[in-house]
Amino acid sequence: MDGLGHDDHVVVVGAGLAGWRLAEGLRRYGYVGRVTVVGAEPHLPYDRPPLSKQVLAGRWELERVALVGEDRVGELGIDLRRGARAVALDAASGEVTLEDGSRLRATRVALAVGVEARAYSTPSSGALATLRSLDDAVALRDRLAGLEGGETVVVVGGGFLGAEAATSFAARGLVPVVLEAAKRPLVGPLGEEVAGWLGNLAAGASIELRTGVVVRDVVAGPGTWRVELEDGSLEGRAVLAAVGSHLDLGWLEGSGLALDDGIVVDAALCAAPRVAALGDVARVVEVEGERGVRREHWQVAADHADALARAWAGAAPSALAATPYFWSDQYGQKIQLLGRPRPDDEVVRVVGSPTAGRWLALYARAGVVTGAVALSQPRALMLAKSLVDAGARLDDALADAPWGR
Ligand SMILES: Cc1cc2nc3c(=O)[nH]c(=O)nc-3n(C[C@H](O)[C@H](O)[C@H](O)COP(=O)(O)OP(=O)(O)OC[C@H]3O[C@@H](n4cnc5c(N)ncnc54)[C@H](O)[C@@H]3O)c2cc1C
Repeated sequence: MDGLGHDDHVVVVGAGLAGWRLAEGLRRYGYVGRVTVVGAEPHLPYDRPPLSKQVLAGRWELERVALVGEDRVGELGIDLRRGARAVALDAASGEVTLEDGSRLRATRVALAVGVEARAYSTPSSGALATLRSLDDAVALRDRLAGLEGGETVVVVGGGFLGAEAATSFAARGLVPVVLEAAKRPLVGPLGEEVAGWLGNLAAGASIELRTGVVVRDVVAGPGTWRVELEDGSLEGRAVLAAVGSHLDLGWLEGSGLALDDGIVVDAALCAAPRVAALGDVARVVEVEGERGVRREHWQVAADHADALARAWAGAAPSALAATPYFWSDQYGQKIQLLGRPRPDDEVVRVVGSPTAGRWLALYARAGVVTGAVALSQPRALMLAKSLVDAGARLDDALADAPWGR
């Protein structure tokens, strides 16, 4: 796609991190034409990572999650439409239809619609509380505000989000119990070996994590929930389901775009001649001929927005290598992930040990470093970044050992 001119009209669908950062970036890199951002939620663009951490722990007021204030939106000359859900797109013409029936004619469309929390229900419970949006966080916070210290809160799902929420519940003096279906959490993204090293994190924070658990039903009683398991039951004053994400792309069927558990885009984030997709929803074909990859990482969404804003506004591409980065604050520790590690990669621990509760491991495939994962070793991880950026040979990385110098 070529750079934009004065007569263009950019319509950004989705007013989350990627959508807002794109709109802001277009102005930063000099585009002065029309920009309309449509967001389904009623709120100003906001940041999600603090929801499961500072907000749920009761350390932050909600206002702090805002990515921008009303005044700044006006100063930037961006038409931000809140509570406006897009319900149809014609990729060829660039026409976006909103829920109220109005239509926007765009010369460029950017789809930054993210993902939703996967709904979770049991025979007796109906849909249980999930955590993706600000409204979800408010509902949970209000529920927690009515609880006494020492009361039990059940978290279904021990992945990144469930672990973070449990940590925040504990910080409020509540007693979280995390129920995980797998034998250990995080095997999917990190592989058996590294997930094994993380197996004692919850215990180290005095948080109960039950693995290999099958939830049969969740039954509401007066002010409490009974969670029935295959072998027993437990009572909780609140239940949070943190069982992954779900894509809501039915409205794009027939739009002319390729959909494959995400919106398929090329390395430049193009889905069609005048349509791009970015952030959590984008399945980016990184290697021609291979299936693309979709990453639900804050930094990846921010990097996509910056790269697309530069490309569309005609600014020079960033000199920084866009190495994917992810972090999670859980059980009092920080897990960080750099690069494109796969669960079946070779893993070599180069710093620390699981018993010390601090380590850095390199992931490698066919002798080439694919990524690095660290537990509470932020400095060592950053020192290893150049190796991951460069796709260094594992042997050279071990000889060089920049994390140890
Ligand atoms: C609680 C929580 C904690 C997290 N913690 C971390 C973390 O510690 N580290 C990390 O790397 N990542 C974390 N993430 C992930 C990170 O927040 C996401 O990667 C990031 O928000 C992706 O940005 P996005 O703009 O693609 O999607 P989103 O932020 O989801 O924004 C998409 C927006 O589009 C709107 N939308 C959807 N459909 C439509 C439509 N049809 N029309 C109009 N608008 C629409 C949605 O309402 C939403 O507001 C966390 C996520 C959550 C939920």
